[in-house]
Amino acid sequence: MMKTLYLCRQTQTPNSSFMTNPFFTERSYALQLDQNDPLAGFRQRFYIPENTIYMDGNSLGLLSTDAEKSLERVLNEWKTLGIKGWLEAKRPWFYFAEEIGEMAAEIVGARPGELIFTGTTTVNIHALISTFYQPSGKRTKILADELNFPSDIYALKGQIKMKGLDPSEELLLAPAPDGRTLNEQIIVDMMNKEVALVYLPSVLYAGGQMLDMEFLTREAHKRGIPIGFDCSHSAGAVPHHFSNWGVDFATFCSYKYLNGGPGCAAFLYINKKHFQKEPLMAGWFGYVKEKQFDMSLDFEHAHGAGGWQISSPGILGSSTMEGAMKVMLEAGIEPIREKSLKMTDYLIRLTKEILDKPPYDFSIATPLEPSRRGGHISLLHPTESLRINEALKARGIIPDFRSPDMIRIAPVALYNTFEEVWKVVQAFKEIVDQKEYEQFSKQRKAIS
Ligand SMILES: *Cc1c(COP(=O)(O)O)cnc(C)c1O
Repeated sequence: MMKTLYLCRQTQTPNSSFMTNPFFTERSYALQLDQNDPLAGFRQRFYIPENTIYMDGNSLGLLSTDAEKSLERVLNEWKTLGIKGWLEAKRPWFYFAEEIGEMAAEIVGARPGELIFTGTTTVNIHALISTFYQPSGKRTKILADELNFPSDIYALKGQIKMKGLDPSEELLLAPAPDGRTLNEQIIVDMMNKEVALVYLPSVLYAGGQMLDMEFLTREAHKRGIPIGFDCSHSAGAVPHHFSNWGVDFATFCSYKYLNGGPGCAAFLYINKKHFQKEPLMAGWFGYVKEKQFDMSLDFEHAHGAGGWQISSPGILGSSTMEGAMKVMLEAGIEPIREKSLKMTDYLIRLTKEILDKPPYDFSIATPLEPSRRGGHISLLHPTESLRINEALKARGIIPDFRSPDMIRIAPVALYNTFEEVWKVVQAFKEIVDQKEYEQFSKQRKAIS
């Protein structure tokens, strides 16, 4: 939405005016974007590490005062209620996973009962694949891709072995012709009669490409193949419409754009057409809720995503999600996506204008079309990505680095500003101008 301030100087929206506005490389332009940002107020509700420009919300989102309050309340409930907290806490712990699932449903387009707040991403992958991977006859293979997150691939290989099969035969990885992006048509062409299941990421963790989940789902279903997605790198930054698209199952972590905190529980989605399927990594929290405490030895699973729960929910470590989700719902996932795209667009255009030529020579690994990118942009330097990343950190800028040469920058709609994006680009420029990176070692740290 345009404010009058804008109309004085230009006739287009900020987003489309980059090309035509000769001042877009100036700081004042960034400040103006911030002034016109309808989500600007949300930043105050987050703890921003001191003297830091935090551009790493795609790895670990920041703490909000709302999330902090939920955690404090639950800690206090444990203190004052003891075991009674399971039913008498403000949000009874016994129903916490279901209720947070209901809260989050609108950000991924889930219907009632299809989303549960449980487990962790990799555990959920195991729980889901054990149900959805049922090799039979000639259909024995899982189709994934070679740019997938390692943990997901380890889980798929383990699941194949658990069925008594050989991962080197049964796991197909769609190739990335340029080493950084996938081509949906290549993936579709690999969906042949031997494929029992397709499992893909929504947004690639390294290069930031977003796959067309609706298209892939439609194509998989045309060939009679169930399909699931890991949405860890898109949930909270991009709206999803799982149920409308017909996605069979999905999971995503809650500590990236969802700001749940390190190790917070993840989400698990099951399309309701599969509610009767059997959760094979069965546990007592997947039991029909009203009868769980009958303690029967015959497993009767809940007909809903809740049936795929395994253990007692980690109430303390996950209570933050209640407050974090409240903030996200207040802002709304559509406005969040709109601002996120505006920020990454700004970053792309500044990069192209300032950094995409000698002596800087940066390039962008992420697809430039809005519909093909998630919330982060990956920049590459031909020789010095690792040390430039270190130099950014020494300046109080937190990006992150993914081997061998990607610097990921994630401007997060809820707490980053356009001015910060502008400052990051200036920092890239100065680090190269002054050869600041030469002070740093070429050795990689354990977590970068
Ligand atoms: C962050 C992320 C994970 C993390 O898995 P955990 O089990 O939560 O440690 C897994 N897969 C993808 C694609 C991710 O982005």
